[in-house]
Amino acid sequence: MTDAEAGDAESAPSEVDRAGDVWVFIEEHAGDVMSVSWELLTEGRRLADDLGDDLVALVIGEDVGDVADEAIARGADRVLVADDPVFEPYRADPYGTQFRALVEERIPSIVLIGGTHTGRDFAGRVAVPAHAGLTADVTELDVDEDGQLLARRPAFGGDVLATIVCPEHRPQMATVRAGVFETADPEPEREGDVEEVTVVVEEADALTEVRERDVSDTADITDADRIVAVGGGTEGELGPARALAEALDAELAASRKAVDEGWVDGARQVGQTGKTVRPELYVALGVSGAVQHVEGMNDSEVVVAVNDDPNAPIFEHADYGIVGDLFEVAPRLTTALEGEADPEEVLQ
Ligand SMILES: Cc1cc2nc3c(=O)[nH]c(=O)nc-3n(C[C@H](O)[C@H](O)[C@H](O)COP(=O)(O)OP(=O)(O)OC[C@H]3O[C@@H](n4cnc5c(N)ncnc54)[C@H](O)[C@@H]3O)c2cc1C
Repeated sequence: MTDAEAGDAESAPSEVDRAGDVWVFIEEHAGDVMSVSWELLTEGRRLADDLGDDLVALVIGEDVGDVADEAIARGADRVLVADDPVFEPYRADPYGTQFRALVEERIPSIVLIGGTHTGRDFAGRVAVPAHAGLTADVTELDVDEDGQLLARRPAFGGDVLATIVCPEHRPQMATVRAGVFETADPEPEREGDVEEVTVVVEEADALTEVRERDVSDTADITDADRIVAVGGGTEGELGPARALAEALDAELAASRKAVDEGWVDGARQVGQTGKTVRPELYVALGVSGAVQHVEGMNDSEVVVAVNDDPNAPIFEHADYGIVGDLFEVAPRLTTALEGEADPEEVLQ
């Protein structure tokens, strides 16, 4: 390196110095926004306010003007919109290329992406070439006094909570678990700027072509207002639980025991190594209430627990506890609900 070059390097601002803004990726598919994106916008607002930075929403898709407006109502100061048919339906390479180009051009300080299949699929395509630190499956976020992101996530199989920092490079990126943050109500009168960015991807550049889509019918339990969760106590006999779920218009969820036994799909596991849910109603049938399970459902509004062991830990977290055999109690609840009785009266 010559002296002149060394001087330039010293006087040039570093990536870290130049970085500003908190970015949140708003994931939408055919107009439907994933709820984790709004959760992250609420959390991103808090971080941006702590840092004195702008909160920027990044919207990639086709005909996404309404999504951009909603992002402002939900807390964004600015929205960057990449609107083009090449982005619908989702493919990792067009998304990754567009996202990476924006990140390299503008160097945000923090980039938050929902830890969905989509988010996890393309986040690495941005982080690796941009030399950004990427923390996956984050469950807590904060900033320290130097404005550095503190990304916390369970590590070593969930035995410890690790705090991960990326001091050398920007952006600091994180994929964040759905359901761990609350969503603030939109404020329709909020104002912000929407910027249409240059689309850097063409259909001819895309490495993949979508000929047919087969969308799984597995519901996202993090979006459910009501959940009936089954545990080891069901011994794999899920009929009564399914009937109760149907009567309550609830989604079926499970403890890890029920998933490990193969009774329920892993996408429906609640807990530290599953999903975090916060429904209005959580009915636990034959779930012991192990600490790793409770971590994923403790913010539910109303918890109803059915367990034949009066000392089961789940009762410490329940608003209504029924000590009894779930194979007797669940059908009685279902019958009462089908008779349109008030569920609270049935439980008393
Ligand atoms: C690192 C780590 C991560 C983990 N992550 C998770 C996680 O994400 N989610 C999770 O759920 N677990 C997780 N676990 C496992 C957790 O510790 C428990 O082993 C698990 O939650 C137990 O599931 P369970 O309560 O359904 O089953 P069990 O422990 O078998 O409990 C069954 C319960 O049903 C009751 N019962 C039995 N028969 C009946 C009946 N007929 N009527 C009514 N009640 C009945 C019993 O009294 C008992 O309380 C994790 C463990 C570790 C070590």
